[in-house]
Amino acid sequence: MSAERIDGKAFAARLRERVGALAAEFETQAGRKAGLAVVLVGEDPASDVYVRSKNKATLAANMESFEHRLPADTSEADLLALVERLNADEAVDGILVQLPLPGHLDEQAIIEAIAPDKDVDGFHVINAGKLSVGRSGFVPCTPLGCMMLLADRLGDLSGLEAVVIGRSNIVGKPMAQLLLDANATVTIAHSRTKNLPDVVRRADIVVAAVGRPEMVRADWLKDGATVIDVGINRLAPETGADKGRLVGDVAFEEASARAGAITPVPGGVGPMTIAVLLRNTLVAAHRNAGLEVPEGL
Ligand code: NAP
Repeated sequence: MSAERIDGKAFAARLRERVGALAAEFETQAGRKAGLAVVLVGEDPASDVYVRSKNKATLAANMESFEHRLPADTSEADLLALVERLNADEAVDGILVQLPLPGHLDEQAIIEAIAPDKDVDGFHVINAGKLSVGRSGFVPCTPLGCMMLLADRLGDLSGLEAVVIGRSNIVGKPMAQLLLDANATVTIAHSRTKNLPDVVRRADIVVAAVGRPEMVRADWLKDGATVIDVGINRLAPETGADKGRLVGDVAFEEASARAGAITPVPGGVGPMTIAVLLRNTLVAAHRNAGLEVPEGL
């Protein structure tokens, strides 16, 4: 058997197109564009790439992009003051502070300074709490993107066994919560889980969010399982012909022979994150402008 390849890149492109069209309608209705502010502190090259692509995607989706680049030695007080200004700015619907922040800055304090109704990353404790009790807030972009791919492939998830490997606040935990809300039977596995392959083997749905290259092997999978690979790992330069290649947390080639469907890396979950960020920003814009959030957004 050869697994269906879940094309996150194509799905994300369609989502971005839909968001772009609805953002143009928003502009007509609200008399202004939806706006996303992105704050980058320091010069981390990976973060720089992310911020550039977020900026480009935001503009392409008919939204306003406000980029704030601050030096690496910015004080916490100055960063908090910027967040306060953005909270009060009516042109800004969503605020994203690019992580990781330089070590002298308290990430949690900064995230919690963002107004929860502009926290389009869904990292604020209020939004985490809302997700946990089933109230509508903002859900972190990567797990929400994974859910969209799962719903598209499987439809109703009721009663399916789901195993999420990883329990971070930005991926694993919200992912498990979303699966639970969709009536899956959810297990969260982590570094202390015993007999991980046996745990994973009972899953109809496997979500791997670990950060360990090709950890999940084919013989860990139930026949026909749907596999969502969140991991992004760059192989070390000394790994022979594979040097510098991007791989996920799942051994894609061999897992493809066993799974029913699987996301590739790259081109699976990765492209969904920015598309969902744009979606969350447009939702925020509608709420902030007192407009009804369009159906299907
Ligand atoms: P993280 O905060 O480092 O969390 C990793 C989780 O994996 C932890 O819960 C850890 O368990 C668990 N873990 C580590 N080793 C394990 C093992 N041997 N067996 C089972 N579980 C193990 O990472 P993250 O931020 O959630 O990200 C996970 C991966 O997704 C990374 O590769 C990251 O680059 C990628 N990612 C991709 C996107 C995207 O596609 N846009 C977005 C975010 C993250 P403990 O809690 O016990 O330590």
